[in-house]
Amino acid sequence: MTMEDLSREIILDHYQNPRNHGRLEHPTLANRGHNPLCGDEIEISVGIDEDGQLIREIAFTGRGCSISQASASMMTEVVKGQKLDEAEAAVKRFTQRMANREPPPPELEEELDALQGVKKYPARVKCALLPWTTLRETVDMYRHRDPSSDSDDDDFSVDCADAP
Ligand code: ZN
Repeated sequence: MTMEDLSREIILDHYQNPRNHGRLEHPTLANRGHNPLCGDEIEISVGIDEDGQLIREIAFTGRGCSISQASASMMTEVVKGQKLDEAEAAVKRFTQRMANREPPPPELEEELDALQGVKKYPARVKCALLPWTTLRETVDMYRHRDPSSDSDDDDFSVDCADAP
C-alpha cells in the first residue's frame, strides 16, 4: 500500500464514518462555513466550558466533498477537550502546514498527514481548510461576544402601573 493509498483510505474512513457528527442540543455557539468554490458546507456547534476556557464538546454536520467532511471529522477529534488557545494554535498550525509555510510539527495528529496530499490540488486546499477556519471564526465570536447582552433582564422590569 502506497502512502497515497493510505491517505485515501483514512480520508474515506472519516468521510464514511464521521466522528462527532451531529448537533449539540445546547451549544454555547453554532456557526456555519461555506466554500463556494466546491459547494461545501459545514456547521459546527461547540460547548465551551466557561471556567476552563476549553472546548468541552464539539459536533459538526455538513455536506460537500469528501475532503471537507473528512477534514471536519479530524478537526473535531483534534480540538475536542482542548483549551481555546490550544485549539486556535492547532488551527494556525494546520493552516500554515497546508500553505507549506512550516515543516510538519511532530505533535500533530498522524491522521492529518492524510490531508497533506491535497496540496497537490490547490483548489482542494480550501475544502480541507473550511472546517478549521469555521472553528477559528467560532472562537472569535465567543471571545468577542457582547457580555452586556446578559443584563437584558432589566428590560423586562416593566411597571404594570404604566399600562393603559
Ligand atoms: Zn470541497
